[in-house]
Amino acid sequence: MAHINENYLKLPGSYLFSEIARRTAAYVNSHPDAELIKLGIGDVTRPLAPAVTQAMHTAVDDLSRAESFYGYGPEQGYDFLRDPIAQFDFAARGVDICVDEIFVSDGAKSDCGNIGDILSVDNIVAVCDPVYPVYVDTNAMAGRAGDYSEDTQRWSDIVYMPTTAENGFCPELPEKDVDIIYLCSPNNPTGTVLNAHQLKKWVDYANEHEAIIMFDAAYERFVIEPDIPHSIYEIEGAKTCAIEFRSFSKTAGFTGARCGYTVVPKELIRGGTSLNTLWNRRQTTKFNGASYVIQRGAAAIYTPEGERQIEETLAYYRYNAHIIKEGLERAGFDVFGAVNSPYVWCKTPGQMGSWDFFNVLLEQANVITTPGAGFGPAGEGYIRLTAFGDTQDTEKAVMRIEALKL
Ligand code: PLP
Repeated sequence: MAHINENYLKLPGSYLFSEIARRTAAYVNSHPDAELIKLGIGDVTRPLAPAVTQAMHTAVDDLSRAESFYGYGPEQGYDFLRDPIAQFDFAARGVDICVDEIFVSDGAKSDCGNIGDILSVDNIVAVCDPVYPVYVDTNAMAGRAGDYSEDTQRWSDIVYMPTTAENGFCPELPEKDVDIIYLCSPNNPTGTVLNAHQLKKWVDYANEHEAIIMFDAAYERFVIEPDIPHSIYEIEGAKTCAIEFRSFSKTAGFTGARCGYTVVPKELIRGGTSLNTLWNRRQTTKFNGASYVIQRGAAAIYTPEGERQIEETLAYYRYNAHIIKEGLERAGFDVFGAVNSPYVWCKTPGQMGSWDFFNVLLEQANVITTPGAGFGPAGEGYIRLTAFGDTQDTEKAVMRIEALKL
């Protein structure tokens, strides 16, 4: 008899977005004329840059002719994409990352989840709370999380590090030794960032404890403040302790097209073994590379035209984030994030719970947000709003929330 991976049975249902959809549908049912505005979505809405689609069209034409046809490509990605990544994402910021430390993929979600393949089940995992759920669920699937408690909404073997306004959204070093630490900056869901000093604390911890930091920089392109690192490798010592995940999803609208990459430095050695070699082995065995057409499109981001075009879109989202932050602040809310991020993290008024505030905004302002409690217990008392919508809708939504005078 075949045996399933019973760790899957321990996973709680993905309650957050289904519950948002359920409450929204119930409201629309009883208020069919309501004009709802979605400020809850984490997906982009602006189209791909023309330079990107042009490159993709040309790539499709390449595939249509025998003389320019491409079949299986390198599992690690084509050099026409890895070269500009090394040059523009790293060398331009004073970081020396070589091409064979870069692994192109179909996005950061896959890599954040798959990286666990090269790690033992015995590792103690630490995550921030609130957190992007993929880090927790994928470790639970691999048997590294223990058991889930509905009461505490936590896994017994995961170390949770609250990141709230009280600690400036920078997790404290754990009291118990941990082996794998997930950090995300700019953060989903809080929209806050870790500065160089805060990251250095973690890099030193990881090197001292021979731990590994999984650094998720999916929102790196939103960083505008000059003293905020874009990559963990800007921190001295990070190459011996950190793996970094990048995504073109929010950078350049690739949520549907799918492309990202992971950096595994050659200096990262644990138990005498190179993690770069292990990840290469994993990828060449289980992955046949991201699509040629998509990689051509991603490479176009690094051309002067592509760069200018994606910056226009990023400016559009940044402006939305600014509108939300300013409007909520005018309305008297405590607001975090938004400056280096498309996410705005807003404290609920009084002692109101996340879901109650979600309901108030849905029913009284017809604005859909995401309750912070859905990202972990320490997200209770907050909601997340996103800047990925249409600017006019965003302005209208903010005006409606201000008018509530909560
Ligand atoms: N990491 C974080 C923190 C995210 O919020 C997301 C998407 O929402 C991802 C990774 C996934 O990125 P991708 O679309 O490249 O899989």
